[in-house]
Amino acid sequence: MAKSAGRKPGAKKNTGKIRISRVDPGVGEHNGLFDEGCYGCACEDECCGWGCDVDYATYKLILRHRALIEPLIGAKVEDCFATALKKDSDYIGGAFRETAVREKDELCAFHLRGKKGCSLFYLWATKKLPKRIVPTICRTYPITWHRGRLFIDTPLKKNCKAKEKAPKGVKVPSLYETQKKEIRALFDIPEKELRKLKGIG
Ligand code: SF4
Ligand code: SF4
Repeated sequence: MAKSAGRKPGAKKNTGKIRISRVDPGVGEHNGLFDEGCYGCACEDECCGWGCDVDYATYKLILRHRALIEPLIGAKVEDCFATALKKDSDYIGGAFRETAVREKDELCAFHLRGKKGCSLFYLWATKKLPKRIVPTICRTYPITWHRGRLFIDTPLKKNCKAKEKAPKGVKVPSLYETQKKEIRALFDIPEKELRKLKGIG
């Protein structure tokens, strides 16, 4: 199953940010992706092995910038999805598609070929494309959401940076702290829930 949020219909349509009403305390307590995060650890992008859900807003940007993406992944964008577009108000833009996993390296079809990293993150960083070209779930992972709840997608992958032991005597920042910028950009969270996190962090 892909890195994903909830799938059942019911939540309010939201084309801007995803509405959150409850944040699990673990988000502010669990060690985060500290130092260089996913790049600064033994993990070989393990969570990309599931593929991911692509929000409709992201999907439209992927189609618009396909000429830049396709040479990086060696495939046509049409061949990079495992499911059809499905309406779901839990996603930015009100729908999502699930990416395919490549047979050759068992990674998401949008992963760079033969090296660490994601083609969508890469294009955002090097070509100044809007950050929304990266799926929401990939910007916040291992923090995820489902019908108004923000939580950690456990169990974490074996080599996930968030599982790494902190050096003795060093307090590492929490997942909320290391993902804060993305969480604030993508989710609409009530002040009272944020205050709980700020209190922890
Ligand atoms: S879109 Fe990028 S970060 Fe997300 S699962 Fe695919 S390769 Fe990984
Ligand atoms: S498993 Fe953890 S460290 Fe590895 S790419 Fe995913 S979030 Fe980053």
